[in-house]
Amino acid sequence: MKPASRDTLPEADETLDPDDWNKLRAEGHRMLDDMFNHIAKVRERPVWRPIPAETRARFREELPREGADVADIYREFAEYIAPYTAGNVHPGFMGWVNGGGTAVGMLAEMLAAGLNTNVAGRDQMPIEVERQIVLWVRQMFGFPDTASGIFVTGTSMANLMGILVARSARIGPSVRQRGLMDRGAGLIAYTSVATHGCIAQAMDLAGFGTDALRRIPVDRCHRIDADALRAQVAVDRAAGLEPFLVIGSAGTVDIGAIDDLAALHGVCRDEKLWLHIDGAFGALGVLSPEIAPRLAGIESADSIAFDFHKWGQVPYDAGFLLVRDGEQHRRTFAAPVAYLRRETRGLAAGSPWPCDYGPDMSRGFRALKTWFTLKAYGTERLGAMIGRTCALARCLEAQIAAEPKLELLAPVQLNIVCFRYRADDADRVNAEIVALLHESGIAAPSTTMLDGRLAIRAAIVNHRTGMRDIEALVSAVLEFGARET
Ligand SMILES: *Cc1c(COP(=O)(O)O)cnc(C)c1O
Repeated sequence: MKPASRDTLPEADETLDPDDWNKLRAEGHRMLDDMFNHIAKVRERPVWRPIPAETRARFREELPREGADVADIYREFAEYIAPYTAGNVHPGFMGWVNGGGTAVGMLAEMLAAGLNTNVAGRDQMPIEVERQIVLWVRQMFGFPDTASGIFVTGTSMANLMGILVARSARIGPSVRQRGLMDRGAGLIAYTSVATHGCIAQAMDLAGFGTDALRRIPVDRCHRIDADALRAQVAVDRAAGLEPFLVIGSAGTVDIGAIDDLAALHGVCRDEKLWLHIDGAFGALGVLSPEIAPRLAGIESADSIAFDFHKWGQVPYDAGFLLVRDGEQHRRTFAAPVAYLRRETRGLAAGSPWPCDYGPDMSRGFRALKTWFTLKAYGTERLGAMIGRTCALARCLEAQIAAEPKLELLAPVQLNIVCFRYRADDADRVNAEIVALLHESGIAAPSTTMLDGRLAIRAAIVNHRTGMRDIEALVSAVLEFGARET
């Protein structure tokens, strides 16, 4: 390489900053205004609309070699992208388990993007924001001062990390050099048959394999059978295996079941097992005075995985892992390397850093939108909103019970209602009804299989959903059902 000479070095006007800040400022204000309108007027649009083949085709283009005007790019965004999202901001969205987000969260996300700070570590106030959230989360769940917490993408990642902490707690530090070779081979984990698929995947990724996960039966409300769990642990011990972990559910994905967490804690205490809770959406039920009593026992878990982006309404993504033994958590992931040396002064101070608590090095500022959300609404209002989604689910349940053409397929325990239109070939008819609902843009429930039967599954998670959305769902199901039979 030739040595750089002064006159070939970049000048300030060769940076990526705008030539004309005022022009970009005006564009930015317009985008912000448009996006406020997009959210404020969400009800006027369909929940979802199919993407026309032509739109998809026209959107494709060559790798851009030269830059374009931001106003033109924004026009493409407004035409091709914004109208065709999944629709979880819309009050009629009831599929899967998706949060609705808020305009306040959006603003915080914009501020975070402007700061563009890497929340891996170093001595900076954004780390204190994340630590503030850790303090609040400890308080929400009644965890001790020694508990640690960290933002991650979502509960799938938080569950995997929880299992890795449990793994290193059981095997000891050698697992980090020798993997499962020393004593990992016979380790067994337990969960119910109703648990989310990411648990089995986490067992796979953690090196145990899915065969090391025992699926314990559930009662008719999909709560784990604690006696069957004890019995299976005894069988496995007798066979020379080593039980080490129980994964309980605080809100199952299919029907919103909450395991008897106090009973699980009892089993884990007696059998010396790690208790991890998948509380992806349900754990934040602790903020609701009606739901909190049903989560009793969650305060004695060893680790909890949950999402602020579901019932917490924080914009995507904002998953969280809370671990009772913060030191064990740190020992699972922290890896001293020269280029991450810690100091007592300067920018490299303030150890431990978030990157010591998980596999991510570079990390966005998820804590800021969560901090804004918790402060703007307060836990009482968020808890009331969570309670209201459950009340709406009960209203939907009542409407189904009163309508002879509809049939409830699972008990309504939280914010999820599984039902179907009665018909001879009900699976086909109900799958068709759901597709028609999506295409009509009236409502967007999803489906699941319960006891071999296809159910329409409405999960009320969005804070914007109201009684009229429930009524629109029911009348559209009846209309489409009549059309299909
Ligand atoms: C959503 C969900 C998950 C997965 O969480 P992500 O944030 O999507 O990774 C896990 N378990 C349950 C019960 C869920 O509802």
